[in-house]
Amino acid sequence: MNTDFDLVVVGAGINGAGIARDAAMRGLKVLLIDKGDVGGGTSAGSTRLIHGGLRYLEHFEFGLVRESLRERETLLRIAPHLVRPLAITIPIYKHSRRGRATIRAGMVAYDLLSWGKSLPRHRMRSAKETLREMPRLNPEGLVGSAVYFDAQVEFAERLVVENVLAAIEHGATVLTYTRVTQFEAEGERIKGVQFVTHQNEADRARSKFVINAAGPWVDRLLEASGARSQRLIGGTKGSHIVVAPFAGAPESAVYLEAVSDRRPFFIIPWNGNYLIGTTDVRFEGDPDRVCAEEWEVDYLISETNRAFPQAELNPGRVLYTYSGVRPLPFTTDHDAQSITRRHFLREHPRLKNLVSVVGGKLTTYRSLAEECVDLVLRKLGQGFTRSETGEVPLPGALDFYPSNPPERWLRIYGSQGKEVGELAKRLNTDELAAEIVFAFEREFATTLADCFLRRTMIGLNADRGLGQLEAAAAVGRRFLGWSEERARREVESYRQEISGRVGCGFHDPQ
Ligand SMILES: Cc1cc2nc3c(=O)[nH]c(=O)nc-3n(C[C@H](O)[C@H](O)[C@H](O)COP(=O)(O)OP(=O)(O)OC[C@H]3O[C@@H](n4cnc5c(N)ncnc54)[C@H](O)[C@@H]3O)c2cc1C
Repeated sequence: MNTDFDLVVVGAGINGAGIARDAAMRGLKVLLIDKGDVGGGTSAGSTRLIHGGLRYLEHFEFGLVRESLRERETLLRIAPHLVRPLAITIPIYKHSRRGRATIRAGMVAYDLLSWGKSLPRHRMRSAKETLREMPRLNPEGLVGSAVYFDAQVEFAERLVVENVLAAIEHGATVLTYTRVTQFEAEGERIKGVQFVTHQNEADRARSKFVINAAGPWVDRLLEASGARSQRLIGGTKGSHIVVAPFAGAPESAVYLEAVSDRRPFFIIPWNGNYLIGTTDVRFEGDPDRVCAEEWEVDYLISETNRAFPQAELNPGRVLYTYSGVRPLPFTTDHDAQSITRRHFLREHPRLKNLVSVVGGKLTTYRSLAEECVDLVLRKLGQGFTRSETGEVPLPGALDFYPSNPPERWLRIYGSQGKEVGELAKRLNTDELAAEIVFAFEREFATTLADCFLRRTMIGLNADRGLGQLEAAAAVGRRFLGWSEERARREVESYRQEISGRVGCGFHDPQ
C-alpha cells in the first residue's frame, strides 16, 4: 500500500473496531485489518450482556465493576438502538451457595458502584412474589429472589460494525479477509505490517504504531510475526445454546446457580428465542475451531430443565449453539472463573510502538480503546486530543428509542433503518432485497455470510436464515451483479460457515 499510516490495528473485533474509531476521530490515519469479517471472532461468541459483572464483586474487583457500570451507562447513551436495559432475576434457594444476605449485600454494592445510573435500583422479593412474576420457576426450596438491571446488546456484531462505520466516516481504511503475517521493524522500532489478502496477494503497510487486537489469537500473531514475547493469553471457552420459547419459559432474564457444579449461568430472552449460557473451561486449541461440545449442551439443557421443570428440553430442541474463547490474561490459576476480566495493554520492549491488547469485555471496549489511543498519542509525541467516543453517538443512534414492540429494522439499524426503507422504494423491491443490497453497498459486506451473520442478522434467526438463502442468492444476481457461479459459491460457503464455526456439527441445522 502506498499510504503511510499512523496506526495499524490488527483485529476488527469489538476492541480493534473501538480503537480504530477512537483513533480516527482523534485525527490519526488508521488502517484496520482482519483475517475474516469484522466482528466474526469472540465478539460474536459472547453472552451479549453489557454488565458491571456482579460476580466480580466476589473477587473484590471493585475498579473493574465501577468502570464497567460507567461504560454500561455510556453505551446506553451512545447506542440506544443496540444496547438496551435488561431486568435480571436471581432466584435464591435454600441450597444456594450465596444466601439472601449475601445476595442483598452484593446488590447494595452494585447499586452503590453505579451511582449516577439511569437504570432502576435492585429489589428483593419473597418466594411468593418471585413465583407470581415467574410462575414456572422451580419452587422447591425457593426462599426469594433479587431483581436488578443490567443491559443487553442483542446484536454485538452490529456494535462492531457501527464502530467500524464510524471509523470509516473519519477516514480509516478497512481491509477484511486479510491476514497479517509479519511485523516489519527497523532495529527495535516497528515500521509496519505484512499481510496476505483474500486473493492470496502479499502486500505491506507502513505505520508508526501497531496494535495487536487479535483477541484469543494475540499470541499466535506474535509468534507468527516473529515478535518474541512471553505467553499473554490463557483463554477459556464458553458455549451457549439457543432454543425456541419453551413451556414455562420466563418472560425476563434469569441468572441461576447450576445445581451440578454451582457455577452461574443465564437464561435470557433473545431475538425471539432463548439464549442459555455459558460454560467456562480452559481452552488450548485453535480459536478458529471453537465449538460447543456435547457435554456442554447437555449441561445447559439439564440445568435449564431443573430451573424450569416444564421445559423438558432435549438436544433435539436446540436450534443452534455458538461458542467463543475469552481472551483472558495467561495465568497458572486453575479456577477459570477466578481469572480477572480486567484488560491490560502490553508493550513489547524488543519491538517499540507495538502494543498487544490482553483481555477486555464487550462492555468496556470503549474505555479500553480510549486508554489505548491515549497511549499511542503519548508514544508518538503527537499533540494530545481528548477522546470524544463517550459523547458522540454511534451512526445508527436514535434520539428516541420506542419501547415495545421495537420494529426489527430499528433494533438492527437504528436511524439508518430509514435508508434501508428508502432503498427498498428506490429499487422497487422487498425488505430482504433492500437489506442485502444495503449490507454490500453501504456496510462493506463482501460475502453472504457477512450479510446474514453480521449485518442483517438474519443468520441468527431460528433457522439460521436457511429459509431465505436462495432468495438472497437471487438478490445477489439481480442487484449485485453476481454470476450464477458466484451465487452458488456464496450459498455453499454460508452453509459451511454456519456448520463449521458455530457448532461442532451435531446440533447444526441441515
Ligand atoms: C463465552 C463468552 C461470553 C462472553 N460474554 C460477555 C458478556 O456477556 N459481556 C461482555 O462484556 N463480554 C463478554 N465476553 C467477552 C468479550 O466477548 C470479549 O472479551 C471481546 O469480544 C473480545 O473482543 P476482541 O476484539 O478483543 O477479540 P475478537 O472479537 O476475537 O477479535 C479479534 C479479531 O482478530 C482477528 N485476527 C486474529 N488474527 C489475525 C491476523 N493474523 N490478522 C488479521 N486479523 C486477525 C480475528 O479474526 C478477530 O476478528 C464473553 C466472551 C466469551 C468467549
